[in-house]
Amino acid sequence: MQFTDLKAQYAALKPRIDARIQQVLDHGQYILGPEVKELEEALTRFTGSRHCITVASGTEALLIALMALDLKAGEEVITTPFTFAATAEMIVLAGGRPVFVDIEPDTCNIDASRIEAQVTPRTRAIMPVSLYGQVADMDEINAVAARHGLAVIEDAAQSFGAVYKGQRSCVLSTFGATSFFPSKPLGCYGDGGALFTDDDKLAQAAREIRVHGQSGRYVHTRLGVGGRLDTLQAAVLLAKLERFEWELERRAAIGARYERLLAGLAGVQRIAVRGDRNSVYAQYTVKVDDRAAVQAALQAAGVPSAVHYPKPLHRQPAYAQYAGSDPCTVSDREAARVLSLPMSADLSEADQDRVVQALAAAVRTVAAAAVGAATRAPSTAVTH
Ligand SMILES: *Cc1c(COP(=O)(O)O)cnc(C)c1O
Repeated sequence: MQFTDLKAQYAALKPRIDARIQQVLDHGQYILGPEVKELEEALTRFTGSRHCITVASGTEALLIALMALDLKAGEEVITTPFTFAATAEMIVLAGGRPVFVDIEPDTCNIDASRIEAQVTPRTRAIMPVSLYGQVADMDEINAVAARHGLAVIEDAAQSFGAVYKGQRSCVLSTFGATSFFPSKPLGCYGDGGALFTDDDKLAQAAREIRVHGQSGRYVHTRLGVGGRLDTLQAAVLLAKLERFEWELERRAAIGARYERLLAGLAGVQRIAVRGDRNSVYAQYTVKVDDRAAVQAALQAAGVPSAVHYPKPLHRQPAYAQYAGSDPCTVSDREAARVLSLPMSADLSEADQDRVVQALAAAVRTVAAAAVGAATRAPSTAVTH
């Protein structure tokens, strides 16, 4: 069983992907070739965004968004510590300071009600993360941003295709930034990403920054990066887009089935998905106590699992200096308990049943061991 089954996906799409790649090899326009433009148009239609700018990765999308907003040295960007490092990393790399705000315990997304308390005269933007495939509370976040004149960048690396109050993730704020890393909901065969915005000026800035700040050939009007999506990756994405709606339906069905099968299983808590939005389940994540033991038992049963993420960023050596006045205790607590289970559009019901059975057995064993340890505790204490 695979944690993310990319081989089954390729097998299903092989003729289309191979043909698309062959077309690129035939025309030879490897950088900003016709597939890049075709993909940007397709993604614009899919999301409903006015502009799509494809870029080299999700990380690069975040950086380019911050550069397009002209973030100044020392300006603050409010974000969550419960995310992949790239979120805070790009804030620092762009010259800013991440300000960490704690998460909601049930969704693990940023707690929008705690954001306003962290706004200062130096605050420039809010960067929520739509974690595990569920959009954060964008209406509440946008309202805080509007009151204080801030930009909002949705880190939508895990939520491409998700729906929030009838609109797609990526079109809900100043910028939406997504990733096409192979294991993300829409993945290519290498690194890739995209930026979305409805703002013409910001779109133009992002396009220029993507190619070394050029407004014309060798006319460098601003500081930029080498941040293009290559044509071969665009070709792969175009082929994969053809069955993406089907994949989203499969992810929703598999997620709903996990919800049913795990409901009432003592020792396993599920991530809440709010009624006005869905999750594309970039990860299907649960929470357990004594995670290391549960994970070891799953591994022994041949079930792969992963942890997203074991340490919140305010506990990471590179970002501890940005720990602020929000103690982020919920992030600390949940980081010790989250466990992601196998999830992909091609996960079979038989494999999913095996995952659930192995997890049920693992939590039973761990609970029994905890009871055993408690009853033995007095005698072991003596030997210390
Ligand atoms: C994957 C991810 C990124 C980075 O995307 P890459 O394409 O790998 O650079 C950023 N933020 C979050 C939340 C992610 O999950």
